[in-house]
Amino acid sequence: AELRELLLGRIRDVPDYPQPGVVFKDITPLLADPAAFGALVDALAALADRHGATKVVGLEARGFILAAPAAARAGIGFVPVRKAGKLPGKTLAQSYELEYGTAEIEVQTDAFAAGDRVLVIDDVLATGGTAEASLELIRRAGATVAGVAVLLELGFLGGRERLAPALDGAPLDTL
Ligand code: 5GP
Repeated sequence: AELRELLLGRIRDVPDYPQPGVVFKDITPLLADPAAFGALVDALAALADRHGATKVVGLEARGFILAAPAAARAGIGFVPVRKAGKLPGKTLAQSYELEYGTAEIEVQTDAFAAGDRVLVIDDVLATGGTAEASLELIRRAGATVAGVAVLLELGFLGGRERLAPALDGAPLDTL
């Protein structure tokens, strides 16, 4: 409960960004506060431990900021899941529906070893489309899903419900 208040107090609502009618959750004040950012990274690393993760995936771009230090803190490797066309070498791609149009994310085919258990980290779970596509990608790349962890969940968008089938019993933790 203390962590929750610390984190929530450092997230700023930005009305009408990136378009009219949307209230954007801006996490930059949290990142700029070493006490809050440190506590967040510690909590994410503890989740990686608790769920027996052997790799942490970060979702481009704000997911990288949280996932990379959490992986290092947990003593396990970091794997970037990137927007299409950014990763060198052989990659696997997964496309998914946006409100308008489609998006595509990629991971390198050799990112995971046999038996890897992956914790996916992102800043915000909105509709759940990005996280859902990442779980599909991780399984196609031969790894097991250990869970999904996010800083913030926008409950009214129903991401948790959308993600449930893809989680297949793995935990979704919101800090
Ligand atoms: P989804 O696929 O769940 O609809 O969208 C999630 C993605 O969009 C995440 O990668 C997240 O970074 C970004 N996103 C959506 N809404 C917000 C928001 O209000 N604040 C921030 N920081 N990111 C958002």
